[in-house]
Amino acid sequence: MNERDTEHMLAELKEKENYIATDDFKSADLILINTCSVREKPVAKLFSELGIFNKKKKEGAKIGVCGCTASHLGREIIKRAPYVSFVLGARNISKITEVLHKPKAVEIDINYDESEFAFKDFRSSKYKAYINISIGCDKSCTFCIVPKTRGDEISIPMNLIVDEASRAVSLGAKEIFLLGQNVNNYARRFSGNHEKTNFTKLLQNLSKIDGLERIRFTSPHPFHMDDEFIQEFAKNPKICKSMHMPLQSGSTKVLQDMKRGYTKEWFLNRVQKLREMVPDVSISTDIIVAFAGESEKDFEDTIDVMNQVKFEQVFSFKYSPRPQTEAEFFPDVIDSDTASARLTRLQELHIKQLDEKNASKLGNIYEVYFEELYNDGFVSGRSDNNIVIKVKGSEELLGEFKDVKIISIGRTVLTGEIIK
Ligand code: SAH
Repeated sequence: MNERDTEHMLAELKEKENYIATDDFKSADLILINTCSVREKPVAKLFSELGIFNKKKKEGAKIGVCGCTASHLGREIIKRAPYVSFVLGARNISKITEVLHKPKAVEIDINYDESEFAFKDFRSSKYKAYINISIGCDKSCTFCIVPKTRGDEISIPMNLIVDEASRAVSLGAKEIFLLGQNVNNYARRFSGNHEKTNFTKLLQNLSKIDGLERIRFTSPHPFHMDDEFIQEFAKNPKICKSMHMPLQSGSTKVLQDMKRGYTKEWFLNRVQKLREMVPDVSISTDIIVAFAGESEKDFEDTIDVMNQVKFEQVFSFKYSPRPQTEAEFFPDVIDSDTASARLTRLQELHIKQLDEKNASKLGNIYEVYFEELYNDGFVSGRSDNNIVIKVKGSEELLGEFKDVKIISIGRTVLTGEIIK
């Protein structure tokens, strides 16, 4: 989502102010830092990076702080780093060309509605197009700061999404990647009046686009994984068979404390349904360990879910208390040694499961859509079910589909050879 926000800002700057992007910050006239605030660490990193940029930047160059940390710290950023030229919240990115000309501007209104803003077009990849389908988040997960930095959830009208996807496809993208905090809660609320619809209908309409081969999305919410959604996922050939299912915890008690709205049993039931209907589906997840009040038994429930599901990919984090969240003042904080030990145990288990799964892939054949050129004579892409596969090759492969046989196994990237 931050990557797409960055593309939107670059598009506005390019079209309206003639900026071009550079990787060399020492020669830049404008340095933008697009921030996350989901955990505490990136926030601390912001201030150390700002110091470095300020010291080494070109004379007169502006520095702008954008994104979720901008939303939540606001003017405080300029107080702590007075050389910052402007602060632009995650829900205000369409104002990028305005704040550029307003010294010390702070635009962080989380009620600002950008759901119908016609951003200019810029994409860092020609082959895959990120497309926002909603802004904000309506959930009230007790650990999460996102609703406070991105505001209420508003869906982007379906016709705008379909138009944007068609444009991207006409420019060469064969894959689109839909983005939202709870994509399968699409159409919960629009800014104006719109006819009743849902995520399944959006997927059906997008799949009618000629030349569009693959649709991915993130994140769906386990609570909204009803049968209709899983059936559409299973039977629509354009939808890639990889599902992100953010578990957060395997303990029903912790899930309740987190206000996630589902139980361990519901989560496992959805996984079972999905695997029955789509046997080769790959499932990824997010897990928070050591949430306030998480007992050893609760943590064992998470391990139990890991053992039952054997996720293809796990993004795991130690709980990080965040300001403006309900859990910020929850008692029974877990000490940091216990938290680290739990995280290590979970990650080691995942690596063991991953190695076992990967070993069985030797000799398998996957259809790969190539999208990235490495500088060592390899090109990489993904299988429909999201396995990253590289082959020897060059630019001509980019944007192409090929059948690839796996010849060697790595932990995150498999190596293959093209057979067709
Ligand atoms: N809308 C998504 C979450 C986006 S944030 C969802 O509901 O699943 C991405 C991930 O960051 C979350 O899934 C969660 O695992 C992690 N996260 C969020 N807040 C956190 C916190 N306070 N401490 C640690 N991890 C957190």
